[in-house]
Amino acid sequence: MGDEKLNERESKKRNSLKEKKPYVYEKIQKFEEKFKRGESIAIIQMQYNYACNFHCTHCSIKRFRGVNSNRQMDPDAVRELARQADELGLARFVITGGEPLVFPDFDEVVKAIDPQKFYINVDTNGWFLDVERAKHLKEIGVDRVQLSIDNLEEAGHDAFRAYEGSFAKTMRAVDACQEVGLDIFIQTVVTKQRLHSEEFIKFIEYFNGRGIGVFVSFAKPVGAWEGQYDIMIDDDDLKFFNTLEKKYHVYSHLTPGYGLEMGCIAVKGMFSVTQYGDVLPCPYIHISIGNIFNEPLKDIIERGFSIKYFGEHIDVCTIAQDKDFICNYVEKCIYNHELPVNSDDVFGPEAATKVPFQDYKKES
Ligand code: SF4
Repeated sequence: MGDEKLNERESKKRNSLKEKKPYVYEKIQKFEEKFKRGESIAIIQMQYNYACNFHCTHCSIKRFRGVNSNRQMDPDAVRELARQADELGLARFVITGGEPLVFPDFDEVVKAIDPQKFYINVDTNGWFLDVERAKHLKEIGVDRVQLSIDNLEEAGHDAFRAYEGSFAKTMRAVDACQEVGLDIFIQTVVTKQRLHSEEFIKFIEYFNGRGIGVFVSFAKPVGAWEGQYDIMIDDDDLKFFNTLEKKYHVYSHLTPGYGLEMGCIAVKGMFSVTQYGDVLPCPYIHISIGNIFNEPLKDIIERGFSIKYFGEHIDVCTIAQDKDFICNYVEKCIYNHELPVNSDDVFGPEAATKVPFQDYKKES
């Protein structure tokens, strides 16, 4: 990619990667041409295990816990997934859960991915992340930590996470990462209401003031928020968010990455692999487009691309904004169904008759 197309922050990141992980850098340099050929350049969000020490209000994987499956991710499965992903030119993993820092085999998982071949992010609530652990993560090849914080007020964050003391521990984790020079960003859930609040602006300003970017995950009516449509953003809210992107170091899945305007990144720029090997087009769309224990990753990605919502360019966050998608597919096919649901059952010829959200709401 012509480096002149990358913004200053992106170029800086790319240069440091060139020194630290040259093999990964070379793969990322090919992303633009791959994307233009219609290939996925996805980050693999690996939901390795759903074990967690928290019980968050908005947890999107709640209904995946306890799914009856005879296959589960383990270091060998991760190694094979990483081998296939490398062959496909993919370059990035996010290890998530649950809470990765409670996994007894966490170090083995990192090794199985192979830090020389992949950029590795770890999603965490920060509870177990002190200076010693941060140093260790850096040593074993973790590149960046994504810390979840949802309010600058201790009481607000603790209530949202339903865990007393979580704010204090998470802020300790921020300090620990900065002390040892482990790259971090803050991820925060933003409802329509929070987007327009003073608290949210203060939140961004506080973390940006510490040199830390803020990743915004727009609230979605799934998991613990099933059926709650008032939290969803609309086009005007997204426009408002775009003004914030210009002013602050704040971004969402819709923010162009690698100098590429991808729109919704489901399958194209991200997919999830569940603890049971199912591939979801995005962490919040609980539809399986295939299972890595049954077929090659390449075929699964192709199936994903054959579904118009993931193959075509879409300017909005489908699951946080598109109410037609929600009523026709999510409410009818995902709510009250065993997860994950199969993509053929959702998008196949027999799938729900499509009606606009407004009419659907009148009918129901
Ligand atoms: S639907 Fe939304 S959350 Fe899912 S990948 Fe697309 S932009 Fe991201």
